[in-house]
Amino acid sequence: MQSIDGTFRLSASDLMRFKGCRHATTLDLRKLEVGDIEPDEEGEEAVLLQAQGDAHELAFLERLKADGREVVEIETKGRNIEECVASTLEAMRSGADVIFQGAMLDGVWGGYSDFLEKVEAPSELGEWSYEVVDTKLKRKPDPKHVLQLCLYSDLLADMQGRPPEHAHLELGDGSRFTVRLDEVSAYARRSRRIFQRFIDGRPVTSPEPVTACVLCRWKSHCEKVWRETDSLSLVANATRMQRDKLREAGIGTMTNTPQPLAEQGFSLRRSASRVLSAAKDQLLTADRSGPVEAEDIHPSALRRWFLPGSSLGGADYRPAPLAPLERSIEAGRQLFDPLGKADLPTYVVAPGESLWRIARRILKDSDRHDEIFALNRDLLDHPGDIFPGDVLRMPKDAAILSPEVSYRPGS
Ligand code: SF4
Repeated sequence: MQSIDGTFRLSASDLMRFKGCRHATTLDLRKLEVGDIEPDEEGEEAVLLQAQGDAHELAFLERLKADGREVVEIETKGRNIEECVASTLEAMRSGADVIFQGAMLDGVWGGYSDFLEKVEAPSELGEWSYEVVDTKLKRKPDPKHVLQLCLYSDLLADMQGRPPEHAHLELGDGSRFTVRLDEVSAYARRSRRIFQRFIDGRPVTSPEPVTACVLCRWKSHCEKVWRETDSLSLVANATRMQRDKLREAGIGTMTNTPQPLAEQGFSLRRSASRVLSAAKDQLLTADRSGPVEAEDIHPSALRRWFLPGSSLGGADYRPAPLAPLERSIEAGRQLFDPLGKADLPTYVVAPGESLWRIARRILKDSDRHDEIFALNRDLLDHPGDIFPGDVLRMPKDAAILSPEVSYRPGS
């Protein structure tokens, strides 16, 4: 993340970090704008991984050259990204087979793709155009890799005057994973919009342990904060929801947490939306490559499941790998039924609110936060995606339980 003449310049890494933890973006912004904190130096493990990644990239480069492909390498050392973009465009116009370290920039988003590969699809360049190829050490693609491919592909589309159809990952086991961009680009663009809204709106965040902490560059900073504030985040194996419940119950620090969480009866309800999440997990890991985290799937995948073929312009959306899960997906039909949602009351999110707090205040039952989430899955990728001013659909009884909920029957 950079700030140039008051405009943010964002990269795929910034977006990846945001997807892993919003507080990491808050800290990135603080470092950029206030400069009173510094991230951790890269650990040995990260350095080793980087070295292995570089070796994998160079091995692929050598393979391309050995295959007789004409490779143009963009010199990046000592040059700014604008100069690299100009060289990349020149190489694209010349019709090079492969461009190594191609640079792309649209004013806000920018970055360097590992490789741009020529394909026979006409564009403003001539009878050819390019597709993005990135090298990754992993043997399986990760959803965040797909977000990165989509970003570079959108930037590339502007440069060549034609959106590429595919993007590819050269994986650590030597296999190639190809993404059809029209299937995932909308989700990726939405993720970027959410990220930019976050930067514009600057909602308050706090450090909460998440999976991304393990490799986070702000780990020392957050651990220090947790120690200094005697934070509940230090409670072993406690979930975010359990910590929120403790705080709501007036137990805000480790010191006044007298009993193990289990003894305090913080059991969590397994709701219909959880069943759906589990179904999605199975669905995505079952029989095909693709994202493996439930929250990384665009809600439209499930929404389409429930739409009749006539509204999709063809057959019903029932891919074979999903068939064994049909019963559990159908069990949540009413949660995703767009007709059923037309007559629901709505609530406007106020600053500082979470779904959990809204459920507690409006529905008088914090456990019903996932009901609200389920009713808004076409708007929210993640329960934490809400922002002040968002208009959320609420369960029907919300209009009876709270005067703050507006309800216009038949609207
Ligand atoms: S250490 Fe964890 S909580 Fe802190 S910024 Fe990083 S990912 Fe977020």
